[in-house]
Amino acid sequence: MTKDRGLLIVFSGPSGVGKGTVRAKIFEGKNDFSYSVSMTTRAQRPGEVDGKDYFFRTREQFEEKIRAGLMLEYAEYVGNYYGTPLEYVNETLDAGKDVFLEIEVQGALQVKEKVPDAVFVFLAPPDLRELRDRLTRRGTDSAEAIEGRLVKAREEISLMKDYDYVVVNDEVEKAAELVKKIIAAEHTRVERVVEKYREIFEKEEVTLL
Ligand code: 5GP
Repeated sequence: MTKDRGLLIVFSGPSGVGKGTVRAKIFEGKNDFSYSVSMTTRAQRPGEVDGKDYFFRTREQFEEKIRAGLMLEYAEYVGNYYGTPLEYVNETLDAGKDVFLEIEVQGALQVKEKVPDAVFVFLAPPDLRELRDRLTRRGTDSAEAIEGRLVKAREEISLMKDYDYVVVNDEVEKAAELVKKIIAAEHTRVERVVEKYREIFEKEEVTLL
């Protein structure tokens, strides 16, 4: 990562853990990072706005983007494609601004391969019973689908070892605050700031670092 590039923040976690709710809370207040709007082939839900919640596209359009190499990552999730358009991410990072992705775990693993110095934050459920309750309360899935999602969630939770941070979603507000603190702390990491100082020292012909 060059010294003035923004930070890529990958916020992920198992299905139904509340990623969307925590993300909305993070973006409610003032912050210094931009949300990358994902592309999807799933149907638009009532109240969702094209270009704000997602870029809603057909499978053909999505596959064309994949073929053209225009997606940073993508995954097929419950029969639909979801992915991160590359251009916005690159342009925003190049402009020195942080970019925040909220994506499922397969996509996060792809980003890890391509951008290893991104910051990976895993949102975990307090326990699986809580996750089951949440999926049931959401009321969008059949009992069978909920069991399927729980099996998947167990597999997904085992992937947390590949992340940098784990935030437990026991309270939305607390989880959102913690994510913001993680991002702030990441900006203070030595390897992210050392380049700036190296440059200053070079200008002054001092070789300290
Ligand atoms: P939903 O259909 O409920 O909006 O999202 C379903 C899942 O897709 C969520 O876990 C969400 O985090 C994930 N998702 C949203 N956008 C992306 C994306 O760009 N890439 C990947 N890999 N997953 C995404």
